[in-house]
Amino acid sequence: MTSPQPNTAAPAEAAKRVNLFNLDLAAMQYYFASVGEKPFRAQQVIKWIHQQGIRDLDAMTNLSKSLRDTLKQTTCMDIPEIALEHASKDGTYKWLLRLKEGNCIEAVYIPEGDRGTLCVSSQVGCALNCSFCATGAQGFNRDLSTAEIIGQVWQAQHSLLKNGLGKVTNVVMMGMGEPLLNFDNVLRAMNLMVNDFAYGLSKYKVTLSTSGLVPKMYELRDKSDVALAVSLHAPNDELRNELVPLNKKYPLKVLLQACKDYFKDKTGKRYVTMEYVMLDGVNDTPTHARQLITILQGIPAKVNLIPFNPFPNTKYKRSSPEAIDRFRQILMKSGLNTMTRKTRGDDIDAACGQLAGDFKDRTRRRERNEKAAIDGHSRT
Ligand code: SAH
Ligand code: SF4
Repeated sequence: MTSPQPNTAAPAEAAKRVNLFNLDLAAMQYYFASVGEKPFRAQQVIKWIHQQGIRDLDAMTNLSKSLRDTLKQTTCMDIPEIALEHASKDGTYKWLLRLKEGNCIEAVYIPEGDRGTLCVSSQVGCALNCSFCATGAQGFNRDLSTAEIIGQVWQAQHSLLKNGLGKVTNVVMMGMGEPLLNFDNVLRAMNLMVNDFAYGLSKYKVTLSTSGLVPKMYELRDKSDVALAVSLHAPNDELRNELVPLNKKYPLKVLLQACKDYFKDKTGKRYVTMEYVMLDGVNDTPTHARQLITILQGIPAKVNLIPFNPFPNTKYKRSSPEAIDRFRQILMKSGLNTMTRKTRGDDIDAACGQLAGDFKDRTRRRERNEKAAIDGHSRT
């Protein structure tokens, strides 16, 4: 796997400390080499931080005292701190994590049998404005750093382990934000998730979800091996333009070709997960199901139906269980592997598309939407 160029500041500048949480193995090796240390120090430090959950340099006993002193003067280990933790009745956990400037992001843990899935955010808000998404409706503030992304995994993992509540076995980049718009930071964080010295998760169990940023999907294919989910949500361009505005730039034809190409030269049979949010009367009829079958022909795809999760002021409603089941049956009959996602964490607003955090919206979208609602126009 490749790594983006490490973003390491000159270690001599005490004011510009290197945040060790920003470094994947390659970047950490580069960093240690740049300060005259052996590359294996990188493995040792990554193990301490990510495997053992240690943020105290003095506890890193296999490093010499002088190296620890140097690291104390030149590095830091800053990640978002837990502001609030919510436990749902169904075992789902949601953490509100505070960033340095005061904005908050959310991460969610969903246990199911021997699996524990963590849903991680990649940005504060999202600029893409999908019409059915609470994050999109809130606007965009900024990208998260690698430290802030992997810091969500660190906080969740070590808080769960400490309290005997389970363990992160799967990560989905399905929290706030479009991960492919924050490519380098997300890639470094995912490299740590699958690295055996860090979290050691299988490449099949780390999933990036994108609304369809086609050029970056090809870049991801070349630089990583993780699983891919695509937020499809509509079987034709007209409807998809309305639901996922990014479709106007990368329409279904090019998006589906990118899906076809994603696992083409990889070993083993792998499938792209097509996410499809079920919106009552909008995209959930048998005609839509049949169109979906047609466009997915020849693509190694499985389908994940997501019952819409409502949020304040949305114009959409969740499809009825009958409509969802009928849709699923039609797809299954055509041979498409189709699952309906269980909604979890409903009582703590922890479901897909409900993560909103608490942040200043630089795009002023909230204001514009409120004004449009007052003027009687639809949302923008
Ligand atoms: N930006 C990325 C990843 C974050 S969204 C993407 O769009 O894929 C994660 C998933 O939640 C996406 O499939 C998204 O379409 C879905 N989602 C967003 N809002 C939702 C809502 N209100 N109800 C159900 N799913 C939603
Ligand atoms: Fe952004 Fe994904 Fe929400 Fe669309 S669905 S607004 S891409 S977070």
